[in-house]
Amino acid sequence: MLAKRPKYTEEDLETILVTREQIQTRVEELGVELSKFYEGRDVTIVSILSGALIFTADLIRSCDFPTRLDCLRAESYGNATSAQEPPRITNPLKTDITGHDVLVVDDILDSGNTLKSIIAHLEGFSPASLKTCVLLDKPARHEKSFSADFCGFTIPDQFVVGYGLDFAERYRNLASIGVLKKELQDSATHI
Ligand code: 5GP
Ligand code: MG
Ligand code: MG
Repeated sequence: MLAKRPKYTEEDLETILVTREQIQTRVEELGVELSKFYEGRDVTIVSILSGALIFTADLIRSCDFPTRLDCLRAESYGNATSAQEPPRITNPLKTDITGHDVLVVDDILDSGNTLKSIIAHLEGFSPASLKTCVLLDKPARHEKSFSADFCGFTIPDQFVVGYGLDFAERYRNLASIGVLKKELQDSATHI
């Protein structure tokens, strides 16, 4: 029997965990929280590619303090859905963050290994402050005691796609966040 072909749309989702509307509301709220926290300061946003791309784009437009934007790429997962240690930081920062307030924006806190490595890397540049903001948090998966300073949603231990999060570089453009149908959670089906 032929395997079911993916459509790379929301039709491929088994369940939607966070809707487009819930994301929009929460991102606005995070913008308000961050604007209170960083009032009167100039903040360097470090977005972790590629997963945090869409979240960062919306979040920085919800914040009313001045920002600079830089990006880091940390490779930990490849096309699979399980972690390898340690994640490699594969593109360096372009901005000088020494003495600056830095906010790291990431898509999801899973084991915590990626953010921990990124924080250790950035601390080496002696920023004035270093905080983290993640869209999603999977507390059941944390390996070491590590929590984000700002968080959008807490979700159960399921592999999710959408709103920047991918499976084999697909589904980043979905407006909501959900779990792929079981029969589509196999890389070979996506070639
Ligand atoms: P960690 O190092 O915290 O285990 O994993 C962090 C990275 O793994 C995230 O930034 C994200 O890119 C990827 N990741 C972790 N959980 C998920 C998930 O449920 N869905 C997707 N698409 N990526 C995930
Ligand atoms: Mg990521
Ligand atoms: Mg990925």
